[in-house]
Amino acid sequence: MKSGLPAGMRCAAVLSFDVDGESGMLQADPKNKDRMSVMSWARYGPKTGMPRILDMLKAKEVKATFFVPGYTAELYPDLIKRIAEEGHELGAHGYLHEPVSTLDPIEEEVALVKTCTILEQITGRKPVGYRAPLWEVNPGSAALLARHGLLYDSSLMDDDKPYILPTEAGNLVEVPVHWTNDDWEQFAFLYEPPMGSGVIETCEKAFQLWREEFDGMYRYGGAFVLTMHPELIGRPARVMMLERLIDYMRSHAGVWLTTCEEIASYCAANQTVASTKA
Ligand SMILES: [Zn+2]
Repeated sequence: MKSGLPAGMRCAAVLSFDVDGESGMLQADPKNKDRMSVMSWARYGPKTGMPRILDMLKAKEVKATFFVPGYTAELYPDLIKRIAEEGHELGAHGYLHEPVSTLDPIEEEVALVKTCTILEQITGRKPVGYRAPLWEVNPGSAALLARHGLLYDSSLMDDDKPYILPTEAGNLVEVPVHWTNDDWEQFAFLYEPPMGSGVIETCEKAFQLWREEFDGMYRYGGAFVLTMHPELIGRPARVMMLERLIDYMRSHAGVWLTTCEEIASYCAANQTVASTKA
């Protein structure tokens, strides 16, 4: 049980996508709405990247987790319906991609409840997972999520595997992430406003980095959680690279390729708080 994985499993792997769409650019500066090229860069995600990603996941029979800001869900309800209908998980990701460090507790709660309500109205199911925009989390965020009945958060970086995060409102599961496993660092580039790492890497470099990270999790046991953005990873060559990574992971025995919800549910049912310190 120390690994937090079902018997026979060596590691878990999750493909997660933050479907920011236009929300991030509007959050950065409302004036961006009139910048047609900048907005089209963001719109590529829901408009062009997402259908290709969903087609690929369907062909590969992989279930993934999609974190969506409420604003994006309102703009693209048919896309959200398709994600749900194809058996993927939907999680909340702010309303207009607000970094919660800029919000007071009431504003943070309003954004969370609003987005959960929008997703539930579209899909008929309230999300159980949350990822903070920009992975910015306040000291009270975990208790807020627990109070609203969410199962897990996926924004912190202090472990290789899911763990129980006790809060004053009950336990939450944390599904850890890391910048190393984020396509933003590899592929995000905008000239003005400056965005991302300022470099556009090759698919081969990203594949090599993520394959090494997967190999590490496979050796030591943990959850390889890849965080991607459809405006970046949805480009043709990159979807082909992601397909190759899925094949690579599946060439190993004992890899649990699943959703954040599945591994968080397993953690909640099988780990105690004390065992996270083992
Ligand atoms: Zn985001």
